[in-house]
Amino acid sequence: MSILLDGKATSLKIHDELAVRVKEIKKEGGKVPHLAAIIVGDNGASRTYVNAKVKTCEKVGFESSLIQLPEDISEVALLAKVAELNNDASIDGYIVQLPLPKHIDETKITLAIAPHKDVDGFHPENVGRMALGLPCFLPATPAGIVELLKRYEVPTEGKHCVIIGRSHIVGAPMAMLMWQNAIPGNSTVTVTHSRTTNLKEICLSADIIIAAIGKPEFLTGDMVKEGVAIIDVGITRVADATKKNGYRLLGDVNFEEVAPKASFITPVPGGVGPMTIASLMINTLKAVDRN
Ligand code: NAD
Repeated sequence: MSILLDGKATSLKIHDELAVRVKEIKKEGGKVPHLAAIIVGDNGASRTYVNAKVKTCEKVGFESSLIQLPEDISEVALLAKVAELNNDASIDGYIVQLPLPKHIDETKITLAIAPHKDVDGFHPENVGRMALGLPCFLPATPAGIVELLKRYEVPTEGKHCVIIGRSHIVGAPMAMLMWQNAIPGNSTVTVTHSRTTNLKEICLSADIIIAAIGKPEFLTGDMVKEGVAIIDVGITRVADATKKNGYRLLGDVNFEEVAPKASFITPVPGGVGPMTIASLMINTLKAVDRN
C-alpha cells in the first residue's frame, strides 16, 4: 500500500509554524513580512492561484497587496510597476503571476525584478545561486516538493530520480535540487522531455518519478516499477459538468493505476499545489531578512 504524500495537511502545518513566527516577530517589534502579487489580465486559473496566495498571507499573518493590472497594459508600464515595487521598502517580496499576455516579454519582466525581492526564485541570480548551492530564493514548486520529501522521509540518496519535463519553473530546477549533495537530494537524476524517445524504459528504472508535463493521466501503471515514489506536479482543468465550477483538476499521473504500485504518491489536488504556496510563504519570510 502506498503512503499518500499529503501536501494539503503538510502545508497547513507549515502555515501554523509561520503564524507562530509572525507572532514572535510582532512581539519583538520586527517587520511583518509583506508579499505583493501582480496579476495582469483576467486568466481564471491565474486569478485562482493569486487569490489562494493572498488568502494564505492573511491566514499566517503576513501583509499582502494584490495589484490587478489590465490585460492591455504596455510592457513599459508593467516594467515601471516592477521598478516601483523594487523601490518600495514596505514590500519584502513580490511575484508577477505568469503567464503574461503575449505582447509582454516574460523574460524582460523576470530580469527586472530585484533578486532580493524575487520570492518566485525565477531571476537568473537566484537560479545561479541555487545551482551553486548558495543561499537564495528557491523556486516555489521544486522547493515545496523537497519539503514534502523531507517531512515524509522519502529515501532519495542513491536513488534514480526521473523527472518528466524540463521547464525553467519545475523540471530543470527540480533536477538541480535532486542531485545536490543534501538530504533530500543525492539522487542520480535523469531529465526527460518531449523529445525523449524511450520514456517508458527510463521510467521503469526509476525509484522516484517527478512528473511535470501538463498532460492529464499521462503516466500509466505499465510505465512504473513496484515501490516507486511518485510526485505529480501536473494540474490540468478538465471540463466536468457534474462540478459546480464546471471543471475538475487532473494530474499527470493516472492515480488509479499507479498508486497500487507506488511506495509514496501525491494526490491531485492536495499534493504539490498547496506545498507550492507554502514555499512562497517561506520565501517571503526569508525576504525580510534578505532586505
Ligand atoms: P511546461 O509546459 O513549461 O513544460 C512541460 C514540459 O513537459 C516540457 O519541458 C516538455 O518537454 C515536457 N513534455 C511534454 N510532452 C512530453 C512527453 N510526451 N514526454 C515527456 N515530456 C514531455 O509546463 P510546466 O510549467 O513545467 O508545468 C507542468 C505541469 O505542472 C502543468 O500541468 C502545470 O499546470 C503544473 N504546475 C503545477 C504547479 C503546482 O504548484 N502544482 C506549479 C507549476 C506547474
